[in-house]
Amino acid sequence: MEEVVALCKSRGFIFPGSEIYGGLANTWDYGPLGAELKRNIKDAWWKKFIQENPNNVGLDSAILMNPETWVASGHIGGFNDPLIDCKACKARFRADQIIEEHLHNAGKEMSVEGWTNEEMVSFIKEEGIACDKCGKKEFTDIRQFNLMFKTFQGVTEDSSTEIFLRPETAQGIFVNFKNVLRTSRKKIPFGIGQVGKSFRNEITPGNFTFRTREFEQMELEFFCEPGKDIEWFNYWLEFCKNWLLDLNIKESSIKLRKHEKEELSHYSNATTDIEFKFPFGWGELWGIADRTDFDLRQHSNHSGVDLEYQNPHTNEKYVPYCIEPSLGLDRVALAFLVDAYEEEDVDGDQRTVLKLHPKLAPYKAAVLPLTKKLKDEAEELFKNLAGKFAIDYDERASIGKRYRRQDEIGTPFCITYDFDSKEDHAVTVRDRDTMEQERIKIEDLETYLEEKLKY
Ligand code: ATP
Repeated sequence: MEEVVALCKSRGFIFPGSEIYGGLANTWDYGPLGAELKRNIKDAWWKKFIQENPNNVGLDSAILMNPETWVASGHIGGFNDPLIDCKACKARFRADQIIEEHLHNAGKEMSVEGWTNEEMVSFIKEEGIACDKCGKKEFTDIRQFNLMFKTFQGVTEDSSTEIFLRPETAQGIFVNFKNVLRTSRKKIPFGIGQVGKSFRNEITPGNFTFRTREFEQMELEFFCEPGKDIEWFNYWLEFCKNWLLDLNIKESSIKLRKHEKEELSHYSNATTDIEFKFPFGWGELWGIADRTDFDLRQHSNHSGVDLEYQNPHTNEKYVPYCIEPSLGLDRVALAFLVDAYEEEDVDGDQRTVLKLHPKLAPYKAAVLPLTKKLKDEAEELFKNLAGKFAIDYDERASIGKRYRRQDEIGTPFCITYDFDSKEDHAVTVRDRDTMEQERIKIEDLETYLEEKLKY
């Protein structure tokens, strides 16, 4: 993990937030390469979940919503984490997290979702779990801590102007169900997806970008007929898994964790998390849930607006069931980085390489003049390609060093313009993973790259 964090900082993927002011704990800024990576992940998600899917459409709803939304969704009443304090040093923890960590250290991967506060407190006592900070074993009782970020709208700061930053993007989709249905003229089954920022006042953020208070989500709410929900749940679970594998995530790096009956939310018919093997242990990457008709029914009840769907053939009316695959963009970006990171021995030399899928690589290729004497021609080539692809240009240091620099940031192809290029109008293209080189005509380069970068 330290290697990935160091690489992210030194090469401009991710910087600590507000660094010149000493930072702000657990905030991160994406640098030039990180911004490209994130954009590419969003594009890959949008392409497969929205653009290529005839059933699905996109949305971009507001972060600030009418507070009644959060009463209906259950976030005001129930979006809490179990907070526990160390009596000695006052350090604060999430009770479920310290238990799961304890189990993880004992070689047991287990979730305590669904446990009551009493169960957690007695487990901590019985197992003699110690405070991470001071080693003492005395904890307070558990208090429920609401994760919603509060702010005020307008010029006065009283409870009537209190609003919240959304803790998930999903509710923006539910409140627009009717609008989208009417304007897109979709029929059930259909889905609405969106990508955007969410905010949660996490008790213990950390593990780099894995858990932060501000993060981006990519969520799809897929509406279907009641009774067909499990079929669609299985479909989307498989679809999500394949999306990761198609983007080079190793099969051994992920696993599915099915929520058992006791762990399921009261409204859910089925939930499975796709977990990723982070260097600090398995962690949830993607939650796929069958949310039944819970959300639309809640919003119907609270808003007074009928959110039923009428089958155009039978005229039968019903509240659709909803399958929700919810993915954290920052979390999956970290997973892609960790999974792609490799240190290899090449003829006694070590090379660091990010084997990112070409679709995700910040730069698709780098144009490298063999020497500075070939600068003008190489720059011309860069200009021609840069209109089509994200291309880096580098003329400093030996060609070997420049290859290594590109390997380190995951650039799949290095294009070297050499002295022969003037004669044969061709360049050498080096493949990041195999390190093999081939001679390609300059006029064929665009098609060559297009072919290689197909997604
Ligand atoms: P966790 O158990 O890790 O807190 P959760 O079950 O609360 O996650 P969901 O509400 O299902 O998470 O959110 C869907 C997805 O959003 C998660 O799978 C994760 O990828 C992402 N996510 C949630 N909270 C955070 C966070 N604080 N920082 C980064 N990503 C997050």
